[in-house]
Amino acid sequence: MKVTEHIKQAKGETLFSFEIIPPVKGKSIQELYNNIDPLMEFKPPFIDVTTSREEYVYIDREGLLDKKITRMRPGTVGICSSIQHKYQVDTVPHLLCGGFTKEETEYVLVDCHYLGIDNVMALRGDAMKEEKYFNPTKGGHEFATGLVRQIRNLSTGKYLHETIETDDCADFCIGVAGYPEKHLEAPSLQSDLKRLKEKVDAGADYVVTQMFFDNQKYFEFVDAARAIGIEVPIIPGIKPIAVKRHLQLLPQVFRIDLPQALIEAVDACKNNKEVRDIGVEWAIQQSKELKAAGVPVLHYYSMGKSDNIKAIAKELF
Ligand code: FAD
Repeated sequence: MKVTEHIKQAKGETLFSFEIIPPVKGKSIQELYNNIDPLMEFKPPFIDVTTSREEYVYIDREGLLDKKITRMRPGTVGICSSIQHKYQVDTVPHLLCGGFTKEETEYVLVDCHYLGIDNVMALRGDAMKEEKYFNPTKGGHEFATGLVRQIRNLSTGKYLHETIETDDCADFCIGVAGYPEKHLEAPSLQSDLKRLKEKVDAGADYVVTQMFFDNQKYFEFVDAARAIGIEVPIIPGIKPIAVKRHLQLLPQVFRIDLPQALIEAVDACKNNKEVRDIGVEWAIQQSKELKAAGVPVLHYYSMGKSDNIKAIAKELF
């Protein structure tokens, strides 16, 4: 079922969902199940599975380094399918522009359709680790808007090279990313919002936000989005701080601000167990306020760990 249908069916009740990352190549999928199992009691109607950018690895060939490109965490669509099968819950595979040609994307979408996956998240992807800026893949999309268009075209039978008359169109529900504190490359929040509007106009059905730690930023973002005519659901993305290093890492990677009270509370912690507790408590307070404001879904970035997400969900769902 589509994410938007789940939201409609909930009739104003806030839903619980979360995002997981595929295991590193060669690791068992059981590790993933072990982290999903404890969260199933909160009845997520859908689970997101991320896709990682490809990266360079260097293989030592008797003293000479051979540079190869590889994806360390493949398997997004397979994982989605196995989760749907095992837990009877909808999944949302993340699709990237970066690293995929339009043809490869079309094949992935065909696989999703055959597997009964009704939702996809359309994302540009970040720059590769070795690159300063995002470089579009040859034959791929430059921005998420193009990817949204490609996915939306399928609902009228429009494939890349032909239009197919069929009564079995792949009519995906499409999610896109939104940034309450603006995307790191955007010249301003207003121009980033206009880009978000383009994604919605191209056919996106809902938005999931980048993490934020000050709810005011989310509320203002939603108001600004509504003011320019973005009417689709805007789902807040929540991440609990888990280690002290997050104080530097999160602002550096995502260009987000952390509230002073949170910084001081984390700074005062003697170890990461205390930091984790602070992070959970902060996320609970954030979630309670967002739920009271009637957000459609609270979406948690689990980063492969369920214990802190469970501690938060227990207080809310
Ligand atoms: P876009 O919407 O294409 O925007 C990228 C930038 O280009 C923005 O600054 C925008 O303002 C600008 N822009 C857009 N259109 C135009 C245009 N026509 N001309 C000029 N500028 C334009 N990354 C992963 O690698 N894997 C994941 O699974 C993943 N999941 C994510 C889930 C969520 C909820 C979020 C918020 C992010 C996720 N990301 C993921 C990160 C995402 O890929 C990066 O933030 C990426 O840098 C931007 O992706 P986007 O889809 O927002 O890009």
